[in-house]
Amino acid sequence: MSYAIDFPGAVTLPVVESNKTFPVGRIYCVGRNYAEHAREMGHDPDREPPFFFMKPADAIVANGATIPYPQATKDLHHEIEMIVAIGKGGSNIPVEKALDHVFGYGVGLDMTRRDLQGEAKKMGRPWEMGKAFDDSAPCTALKTVAMVGHPGKGAIWLKVNGEVKQKGDLADLIWNISETISYLSKLITLRPGDIIMSGTPAGVGPVKAGDKLEGHVEGVGELTLTYAK
Ligand code: MN
Repeated sequence: MSYAIDFPGAVTLPVVESNKTFPVGRIYCVGRNYAEHAREMGHDPDREPPFFFMKPADAIVANGATIPYPQATKDLHHEIEMIVAIGKGGSNIPVEKALDHVFGYGVGLDMTRRDLQGEAKKMGRPWEMGKAFDDSAPCTALKTVAMVGHPGKGAIWLKVNGEVKQKGDLADLIWNISETISYLSKLITLRPGDIIMSGTPAGVGPVKAGDKLEGHVEGVGELTLTYAK
C-alpha cells in the first residue's frame, strides 16, 4: 500500500554512535517542573501535581539548524529541557519500574510563543497555539541508557548569544523522571517512540531574529539553534 497523498513519513531523531534512528511518536511536555521556574511564572511549586501538554512530532528541528522566527508572535521564549525517549510502552507504570521504559535521553527546547500562551491562560483556552507550532521542538540526537545511564543530577543551562540565561540542575526537578513517567502513564498509555520534555529551569526569556541559542545538559548533550535574521 502507498499513501494517497505526499507524506514525509516518520519524524526521527538520530541516536549517538548508531546508524539507527529513533522514530518519534508523540511529544508530552511537563509544565512548571522546577520550583524557581514555577515561581517566576507566578505559581506555588509546592501545591501542584504534574500537568502535561503536547507538541506534534513534526515540530522537531535538528540540532544545529537555522530556522525562521515563527509567525504570529512578538514574544518567542526559550525553555531548555532534558528530553526522555520512551523505548517501551505501558500504562499504570509504577515509579520503581518507570526507568525500564526509557530508551535514552537528549536535550530539547520547548520553544514557546509566550504572548499566545498568556492570552490562552487568561481566557481559559488551550495552550496549543502558544506551544505546539512549527519548529517548536529543537532536539539533539539521543544518547542511549547504556551510554548515559539515568541522569538524576547535573547542570542544565541555556545561553543566548553567549550569555547564560537559564541555569539549573536536574536534581531540582519537582517530579523526577521516574515519577513523571509513572504519572503520565496513569493518564495515557505510553508508546515506544514517545518523547517527554521534562520541564525547564528558571530564566526563561525572549528570543529575537538573529539570536544564537546554545543549550547544555551535563553528560547528555549540547544543542545549538539559530534564528535567521
Ligand atoms: Mn517547558
